[in-house]
Amino acid sequence: MADQLDANRPLRIAIIGAGPSGIYAAEALIKQTEINVSVDVFDRLPTPYGLVRYGVAPDHQTIKSVTKVMQKVLQDPRVRFLGNVEFGRDLTFADLRRHYDAVIYTVGASSDRHLGIPGEDLPGSLSATEFVAWYNGHPDYQNLDIRLNVQGVAVVGMGNVAVDVTRILAKSAEELRQTDIADHALPVLAQSQVSDIYMLGRRGPAQAKFTTKELRELGELHNADIVVRPEELELDERSAASIAGEPALLKNLEVLREFAARPLTGKPRRVHLRFFVSPVAILGEGRVHKIRLEKNRLDENLNAVGTGEFEELEVGLVLRSVGYKGVPLPEVPFDQRKGVIPNQSGRVLREGQVAVGEYTAGWIKRGPSGVIGTNKADATETVKLLLQDAPHLPLAPEPNPEAVTRLLQARGVRYVTLEHWLKLDALECALGQAQGRPRVKLTSVDKMLEAVGN
Ligand code: NAP
Repeated sequence: MADQLDANRPLRIAIIGAGPSGIYAAEALIKQTEINVSVDVFDRLPTPYGLVRYGVAPDHQTIKSVTKVMQKVLQDPRVRFLGNVEFGRDLTFADLRRHYDAVIYTVGASSDRHLGIPGEDLPGSLSATEFVAWYNGHPDYQNLDIRLNVQGVAVVGMGNVAVDVTRILAKSAEELRQTDIADHALPVLAQSQVSDIYMLGRRGPAQAKFTTKELRELGELHNADIVVRPEELELDERSAASIAGEPALLKNLEVLREFAARPLTGKPRRVHLRFFVSPVAILGEGRVHKIRLEKNRLDENLNAVGTGEFEELEVGLVLRSVGYKGVPLPEVPFDQRKGVIPNQSGRVLREGQVAVGEYTAGWIKRGPSGVIGTNKADATETVKLLLQDAPHLPLAPEPNPEAVTRLLQARGVRYVTLEHWLKLDALECALGQAQGRPRVKLTSVDKMLEAVGN
């Protein structure tokens, strides 16, 4: 009960996932002044910041500067970072119940959606999310078999992730060398024989999901010409009406029209933006060799409908970039269809009923949409409800923060503290500085633990 909470017995909250939504939830908790709080932010990796470290493109360093604010949150005396702790394995739901008054699940969406077409599982066909995790040095993907001894690459999807992977594939080794791209990825990209990258949109330019800034960057590549077919920019009446009051979408169209008017200038690579095409099969014997596309038109609801007209593109790599997807947590309810934890504005639902003391925020709450900052408002909404509920939450029997770390030690869990992380961070930045790069990432958990002396 709230009247039992004071500086000696603050409300104990566990946050599962130290990505943007988890840290924004911690920030919202420490910014309010009504209730004393003590927050533990767990992550299954030894590193905080989630997709800021492992998702944001290595050539978009300014976006990563958001970690400065996030670090301040983790440095607050009311907040504790405990990395390298996997929920469900190292710490169970029963443990949370025993040690915390409330839990906020902020694990993001670590898997991806599939196309459901023949050949999707052929070697050389994978998700953009895996490719992104590989070039960003995510420990789980350091050994991914990426072969760029191919000329054509298909990137399926018209969102910002598709733009990111297209741009990374198009850039030269010199450009990438200045970033914090993973050391294992750089030689593979440096020896890339890729000449043509096809971004494939099933609908038209008015329905594309990328933002104008990201689109523009594709037209500013030193190493690649941009190719857009003018006939694929023609809008039907409904599409034109749908974007009439949407300045951002109108801007996209303007940029695309300017791209379509450009001649080829003989750069080593070409980025092709194709609209109104759906992959229907990925072809090849033992490996991807081609992708078969069906031409689409839009129906009255602006959905893509096949026309029965087909074409094939010669490609040796297919990256599907059709959206991230959440993964269930042990003992936590999950909506398989939506790929989220069922919730009401952030209050977790168990069999349709609000679950006592369980909350969620970020992509695992609302699905994989929006930019990093979107998670701030989302996490704040959740925390507001948690604080409203706080007076009625049953208090955990073992609230002492030391009891949690003792439990982890007893289980042999080599948990990582903020001090450890700051040491690793400084080491990576120093390694980077020596090479004129923002940082050199350590990509194996063992090496990270060794480096911080854990
Ligand atoms: P997204 O924006 O939802 O784009 C997914 C794309 O996949 C859409 O073009 C969608 O087309 C297409 N698609 C879905 N199912 C398909 C299918 N079966 N066949 C063909 N195409 C299909 O997702 P995202 O690119 O993964 O990005 C996730 C979020 O992260 C977004 O909010 C994005 O803005 C954000 N993000 C931002 C940045 C940045 O700010 N620089 C960078 C990366 C990601 P339909 O529209 O037809 O469904």
